[in-house]
Amino acid sequence: MSKVYNVNLENPSELVLEGKRQRIAGHFANIIEELGLDLTDPSIKDTPARVAKMLVNETCNGLFSEPPVITTFPLDENTSRELVIIENIPFSSLCEHHFQPFIGTATIAYLPNDRVMGLSKGARVLDYFASRPQIQERLTNEVAQYLFKHLNAKGVFIMIHAEHFCMKVRGVKKHNSSTITTAILGEINKTEVLSSIQLARK
Ligand SMILES: [Zn+2]
Repeated sequence: MSKVYNVNLENPSELVLEGKRQRIAGHFANIIEELGLDLTDPSIKDTPARVAKMLVNETCNGLFSEPPVITTFPLDENTSRELVIIENIPFSSLCEHHFQPFIGTATIAYLPNDRVMGLSKGARVLDYFASRPQIQERLTNEVAQYLFKHLNAKGVFIMIHAEHFCMKVRGVKKHNSSTITTAILGEINKTEVLSSIQLARK
């Protein structure tokens, strides 16, 4: 198969990923052929390589990379120790049952102990655990566990609201249904989190 990427093959981890891309492209070419499509068609001929690149470099990249390092800052006496809520963080992931996307938003809330995190870090953690085949329930839990551990927070609350394309385009074809999952670790008041979000929207 012709190589279509610019990769630095001196880098051992890039070499491993390039091997994965080439093998996945070969497997996906078999699927396309089995479906009876013409792999010589100019529109389709690079599809196996495109799908392989999408899986390895993007939608499943969390399987091949390290979790983000959480930068935290110490709280001094003048800083609030109350709830921190970051809401409506968009994400996309891949349903592991059907390999169809599920997309939505997450709300990350935590009650600090002695440190706070950089505000973008929650989004990076979400993206990391979303970049692999997932189920929404596990994704919610993994984000909660990781933040709880690395923030040394008193409590963490995660809520994910998502639409699953496996529900929209196949099976029951319920286009407007969405799924909400939550995870709570440590001491954090869920009602207080939800009422703060409500108040902020008024
Ligand atoms: Zn599914």
